[in-house]
Amino acid sequence: MLRLTGITVRYGETLAAHDVTLEVPGEAHVLALLGPSGSGKTTVLRAVAGLEPIAAGSITLGGEDLAAVPVHKRRIGLVFQDGQLFPHKSVAGNIAYGLALAKDDAGKRMPRAEQEGRVAELLDLVGMSGFGPRRVHGLSGGEAQRVALARALAPRPRLLLLDEPLSALDRGLRDRLATDVRDIVTKHRTPTIVVTHDHSEAAFLADRIAVLIDGRIHQVAAPRDLWRRPADRAVARFLGFEAFLDADVRHGVARCVLGAVGVDAPDGPAVLALGQHSLAIAPHGPVTATVLSRVVMPDGLRLRVAVDGMPGGRAELGAVGTLHDDAEPGQVIRLGLDGRRTGLIAQGRAPREAALDGARARG
Ligand code: ADP
Repeated sequence: MLRLTGITVRYGETLAAHDVTLEVPGEAHVLALLGPSGSGKTTVLRAVAGLEPIAAGSITLGGEDLAAVPVHKRRIGLVFQDGQLFPHKSVAGNIAYGLALAKDDAGKRMPRAEQEGRVAELLDLVGMSGFGPRRVHGLSGGEAQRVALARALAPRPRLLLLDEPLSALDRGLRDRLATDVRDIVTKHRTPTIVVTHDHSEAAFLADRIAVLIDGRIHQVAAPRDLWRRPADRAVARFLGFEAFLDADVRHGVARCVLGAVGVDAPDGPAVLALGQHSLAIAPHGPVTATVLSRVVMPDGLRLRVAVDGMPGGRAELGAVGTLHDDAEPGQVIRLGLDGRRTGLIAQGRAPREAALDGARARG
């Protein structure tokens, strides 16, 4: 198990990571470190790899304090955004690179035949059997990242660190490769931390997501819980929620100015977080709104609407409809709140003035 306890990393005056506490429990667990650009994700990853000194806190792997372990003896695999393969080596040569250098506990190098067997095993694992003799030059972006992953896994690292491993790839390939990467690291049973700023990449890859904002961990949760129950407004905003409404929860129903929705939360005050899909066209819905703009997407209508009766007056929000709904700009429509697409921030009533925070108040 990897454990970070209260680690802090500074670059001069900049506090890039502050009091970060995290765990990657056991084998085959994938933790995503998700946050906006500049939030300190790479810094935390580099600290774990031993590439950045920590000003406070501790990092242990399998109970061993890594402070005393030099970088090359940590047995941590690294994969970067652009793979960084050796251009003059073949695919097999790249994968074998770490094996040729590694020594076992007795200080002996792995025999060549064994290295070849291990390379073949890794090629098979990443779905690239037969690619061994190929030059890396002609590989597609996705293939190159698979080779980088195989190279990192070859010496059987105790931990794998992936830094934005898919962000150089185009969207469609990214989602497919994200699922494959997840299968590969879980099959190999290597605990993994993946750094990303991309919500869906984190959801595809990870068992749990840690949200890092301004160098601090705000929440660690399973993907489903993160979107359903963001810990605070900073997390909710980063996840794409754009407006916040005070609500009162009683017996599993949250009531707010836009109506009532079913929630899985204890009785008491809460804040509903509204995103692009939280309001949906409903002919008899309780919310009256004016359509500001409309985009027709393959899966339905995406609207921007001006909603009356919000705490600050009128507010601009996102809403959705089906391809069978009518909604032209300027038209007055009825909407209902969709509780399944609304986040809930438990505890702590928002101040009145801030209730519309994030949505653009109008009129
Ligand atoms: P992320 O990976 O989330 O984009 P980083 O960990 O790269 O964020 O950076 C966190 C903060 O630390 C940023 O403010 C960045 O400008 C700063 N930073 C990163 N690396 C250095 C460095 N080598 N020297 C000075 N500041 C740095």
